[in-house]
Amino acid sequence: MPDTIDEHFDEGDLVGVLTAEPLDRVLDYKAPTGGCWLGAFVEVPLGPRKVLGVVWGKGRGDWDIAKVRKVNRVLDVAPMRAEMRDFLEKAGGYTLTPMSIMLRLATRAPGLSDPPSMRKVYRLGQGTPDRVTPARTRVIETLVEYGGLGFTLKELSELAGVTSSVVKGLAKQGVVEEADTPRDAPYLTLDPGLPGKELTEDQAFAAGQLQEGLRARRYGTVLLKGVTGSGKTEVYLEAVAECLREGRQALVLLPEIALTSEFLTRVKARFGADPAEWHSGVTMTERRRCWRMVGQGEAQLVVGARSALFLPYRDLGLIVVDEEHDTSYKQDEGASYNARDMAVLRASLNDAPVVLASATPSLETWANAQAGKYTRLDLASRFGPQDLPDMAAIDMRLEDLPGSSWLSPSLQSAVGARLQAGEQALLFLNRRGYAPVTLCRACGEMVGCDHCDARMVEHRFQKRLICHQCGETKPLPEVCPSCEVEGKMAAVGPGVERIAEEAAAAFPDAKTAILSSDLFGSARALKAQIEELAHGDTDLIIGTQLVAKGHNFPRLTLVGVVDADLGLQGSDLRAAERTFQLMRQVAGRAGRAEKPGQALLQTFQPDHPVIRAILSGDEEGFWRTEAAEREASGMPPYGRLAGVIISSTEAAAAFDLGTHLARNDGPIRDAGGIVYGPAPAPIARVRGRHRVRLLVKAPKGVALQPALSRWTNGLKLPGHLRLSIDIDPQNF
Ligand code: ADP
Ligand code: ZN
Repeated sequence: MPDTIDEHFDEGDLVGVLTAEPLDRVLDYKAPTGGCWLGAFVEVPLGPRKVLGVVWGKGRGDWDIAKVRKVNRVLDVAPMRAEMRDFLEKAGGYTLTPMSIMLRLATRAPGLSDPPSMRKVYRLGQGTPDRVTPARTRVIETLVEYGGLGFTLKELSELAGVTSSVVKGLAKQGVVEEADTPRDAPYLTLDPGLPGKELTEDQAFAAGQLQEGLRARRYGTVLLKGVTGSGKTEVYLEAVAECLREGRQALVLLPEIALTSEFLTRVKARFGADPAEWHSGVTMTERRRCWRMVGQGEAQLVVGARSALFLPYRDLGLIVVDEEHDTSYKQDEGASYNARDMAVLRASLNDAPVVLASATPSLETWANAQAGKYTRLDLASRFGPQDLPDMAAIDMRLEDLPGSSWLSPSLQSAVGARLQAGEQALLFLNRRGYAPVTLCRACGEMVGCDHCDARMVEHRFQKRLICHQCGETKPLPEVCPSCEVEGKMAAVGPGVERIAEEAAAAFPDAKTAILSSDLFGSARALKAQIEELAHGDTDLIIGTQLVAKGHNFPRLTLVGVVDADLGLQGSDLRAAERTFQLMRQVAGRAGRAEKPGQALLQTFQPDHPVIRAILSGDEEGFWRTEAAEREASGMPPYGRLAGVIISSTEAAAAFDLGTHLARNDGPIRDAGGIVYGPAPAPIARVRGRHRVRLLVKAPKGVALQPALSRWTNGLKLPGHLRLSIDIDPQNF
């Protein structure tokens, strides 16, 4: 039974049930025997099947009442709360995602329809047996030794090596007793009363502001800004502590979930127990437990990936989005949403504060703070004596570098000096694999993916070419697939594996290691590797952007950026913002402990405004310039943007539909927007499907979603054509 006064339906009342089936309406059913609450999770008959649904409201009563079927049963989980239903509706409305898909996001836990959440277990009772047999003795011994929480009949008979009738016989005499215990154990209690770190003045002020909002149970978005190492995590952990003291639940979203081990250790140190975890790396049993405990209010803190926003919190009192600028918060498959924006929405519906933490906020967040919509709290300097590392450019035009090598003499000597001093260095290149291009020196053919508009990337460890779009792999060709000449295929350009090869040759005595997501089968292996790199005896790390994300490397004092120009190529309007963020974050890895750090950026364009802004550290200047450019062109966050992606196995059909929409753009024009395109999407072909994109741009105040719906609804699409809408696209 829900703990708030909510609507109840009596048996036979008409209720509307939302299901995860692709139907465009809520279906009418009759409430089951015993009735049901609004928000109840139910199983309903649909055709010959039984499907999961949620009681969404009164039935519409527009079906022949004689044909309306009855809800099969109410599931044994807490009903979905009003604010969660509201959240799903608003989030679905904003992202133009059908409610069936929104419900799917909210029910991604296994075993939701399993019958009881309690299970029967056997424990030691008070009785004495009428006679003692070896089998009976084994049962008693097993319970004395291991049976504190009790065992199911099956577990106990197996452990003791007896038949179940032996256990039942003992039960009759009260030697063992039956008890009901929850199937999913609650999490250990976190104790906000344990001492936190003593905060600096800045930190204490920021924490105090956040705590005040928490006590007032008031929605508000706070940008918590401070360089890496300034103590943002310490500050928001104090906000979590206040939230726990208020008896409400807290959610911390992290972008790269593989990197949570360090964070979990800190949570445990601060609160004395582990929080609940929710991400792709947790087992099905743990997911089930997490989902249910969150719903019952018995998980105080959830640490999770973006989908943790859709858990059924009983009383969510705080959301933290760490590294809020991270592009992995934007989900593009299925429902296309930005977890940062959805966190703000969810918090506002829950009267909860939301903290966006970053050293390098997204321009959207920066602008919202600038405009006074978000409160900005700055942590002025790094905790401890070290400031951000010294940053300098290595002008590659002046370096004497033989072909097929990428580490300039200047960078090599800087690395050499650090290694000599027994310190750790990092070479950063945001490119997985060995070489981005495999070229035939006879005919110029570059090996591409058969299904995507992408080059195959050589991965030397796997001895294969891999497509980074779809994962397709091929053996390294001996013979050119185009001109069939043998022995002319060559690796062109560097990936981390190749830089590691060059580094190993340059520093034969150093212990080097590569950190790249594709080299690890599991999140666990990756975690272990990062721990080892941070605290082991590795001298030189060669890494992709994995290393940029929030991990401490206490011995690291030098970061060498192999190609600082990489992100500045291409026409992506966000390229400058992304490069700026990434370079600053990578640089922030250096010199976090006692020793001062240094960051060296290899670049062919040291005078590029973005490179200059990175080096000078004039952040506010950089943001102001970027913001002015976006504003002048009416781009987000100063204007609104949506993408319409049309995909098909037939390129012409996708283009034709795009053209048709572009020609019939009345609904968009009437609303004050403009349609651009159709043009090939940023990735024009994925898994054999051709992708075409229309971009819709509109001034800020325009109600874009209804216009988009009017424009695209009612199209009759043949089976091979798909259309999806991406509100606030990341790439434009
Ligand atoms: P950020 O989240 O901004 O990168 P952290 O909170 O991780 O910064 O702080 C960086 C390091 O400094 C951590 O090891 C943290 O425990 C330590 N630290 C930060 N503030 C304090 C403090 N007030 N007292 C002691 N240690 C601190
Ligand atoms: Zn591919």
